[in-house]
Amino acid sequence: MRIGVLAVQGAFAEHLTVLGAIGVEGVEVRLPSDLDGIAALILPGGESTAQRRLIDRWGLRQPILELAQSGTPLFGTCAGMILLARDIVDGDEPVFPLLDVAVRRNAFGRQLDSFEAGIDVSMLGDQPVHGVFIRAPIVERTGPGVDVLATLDDGRIVAVRERNVIATAFHPELAGETRFHRLVATMAAEHDDPGEGSGRRHHPTRRTGLAR
Ligand code: GLN
Repeated sequence: MRIGVLAVQGAFAEHLTVLGAIGVEGVEVRLPSDLDGIAALILPGGESTAQRRLIDRWGLRQPILELAQSGTPLFGTCAGMILLARDIVDGDEPVFPLLDVAVRRNAFGRQLDSFEAGIDVSMLGDQPVHGVFIRAPIVERTGPGVDVLATLDDGRIVAVRERNVIATAFHPELAGETRFHRLVATMAAEHDDPGEGSGRRHHPTRRTGLAR
């Protein structure tokens, strides 16, 4: 299985390292053709304003949208979460409006530019996920189709899933955490498994895909 990591800007190398650690081949995605044959796509942290510009310059917006709409798993961390949100509070236009959430960029303000926290993510087991927050966004609204995967102690939402799309406000990949990547690989395997027969890739019944 090959999993793509959007490599236009930001912390993509760390995701490739985690993929290697779990025995999955990682592919740097810069051109639309790099998306061919990948089983899932990771959108890394970085600077979402720079990333959105490069995504459009390199013609990646439409092919990534189509990939997601065919049921291929997407996983966004931090800036990647911002790129996946339907609403970005205070301005920016959405890029891949695949998650019915509103996010606020740089939600923790200057005082708390970056911090680390143990995050309970029950679907990943009892052991908390070690999350690194760097000028992180927060989820301020979730639509009815969105599962909240994790909150901070004060209740603010920091990880969500809607069908085949997962996003975290924090960076699990910077702390040697592998469980989110394993989850994405499992989702990708489920989506890739022909199961009911041929014609799976763009088969309409696979569109909602992945059992939730
Ligand atoms: N603050 C960045 C943004 O708004 C995200 C930071 C990150 O990805 N670590 O795009």
